[in-house]
Amino acid sequence: VKAAVKTGPGPGRLEVRGLPDPVPGPGEALVAIRYAGLCHTDVSMVDWNAAARDGYRPGFPLVLGHEYTGTVVVSDQAGPPPGTRVAGSAHVTCGQCRFCSAGSSMLCARLAVLGLDVAGVFAELAALPVRNLVAVPDTVPDEVAVLAEPYAVAAHAVRTAAVRPGERVAIVGPGAVGLCATAAARFAGAGEIAVFGTGADAAQLRMATRLGAGSTSDRAPSDGDFDVVVETAGHPAAVATSLRICRPGGRVVTVGLPAESLTLDTAELARREQRLIGVRAYDLAEWADVPCQLDAAPELRELVTHTVGLGDLARAAELLATRQATKVVVSPAAG
Ligand SMILES: [Zn+2]
Ligand SMILES: [Zn+2]
Repeated sequence: VKAAVKTGPGPGRLEVRGLPDPVPGPGEALVAIRYAGLCHTDVSMVDWNAAARDGYRPGFPLVLGHEYTGTVVVSDQAGPPPGTRVAGSAHVTCGQCRFCSAGSSMLCARLAVLGLDVAGVFAELAALPVRNLVAVPDTVPDEVAVLAEPYAVAAHAVRTAAVRPGERVAIVGPGAVGLCATAAARFAGAGEIAVFGTGADAAQLRMATRLGAGSTSDRAPSDGDFDVVVETAGHPAAVATSLRICRPGGRVVTVGLPAESLTLDTAELARREQRLIGVRAYDLAEWADVPCQLDAAPELRELVTHTVGLGDLARAAELLATRQATKVVVSPAAG
């Protein structure tokens, strides 16, 4: 099979290689990849910055990519039958440790992430754990199904914030996860959704409106009264902004991974009894609900602004890093 691999540590070092077909082991299915999404973590791997160097333990050559949709070709007994369209989790977990048992499989001691620690999905075929896979309804097009992974991240953030019907929700950072969080907040029954970005986010803020945001702005206000704030921007300043626009007693969830940290006024946090909650990806069990949520948000299709082939990863990373793209997806069939 053809696959996009990173051949070793260091910036770049990308190649399309012909590799032996992956052989699914027990508990795995072979999936023909239709689309695989590129996210900022993949850009970190391409650029080989600190987030990639310090965050993962790749063995080279490594097939990159962790967001996927495709069709099952060969399956384990327990898995979805051949022909099933699927999407799924990027986490290979042990399924047995205390974190896996307690619904926090993102904290699994033996966690390995596709395309970062172990072979990923920028390939014609991938062998994936069947417990990672969920079936995609016929009514969800491939261009929406490929967003399942960032959607699952957003849905976990909204769920962790315990958004109740009618609550006022703000989203800081209208990238792919922020836009998915807009749809997830709508699904959760938020009474009002506001999305805040920067002057570079005009196109994304228009998408946010179509996904259910009642108001958008290219700058966050100096204060606010939101019950819940979801921070997906990945800048230290965005966390400070999120706390400022959150009401006393409200909840701020941080999804973004800023390269630098911020100084936090914990006295103010205490005085206002705000909860600041870190969230990381998702638990495996949360995937059960992802297909029906995607089905409820056909507008997500707009997020896929670019489709490239396996040989175009460097260009794809550039499109994402320069924010010309909202979401770039790789189509292995495109060559
Ligand atoms: Zn991702
Ligand atoms: Zn585990």
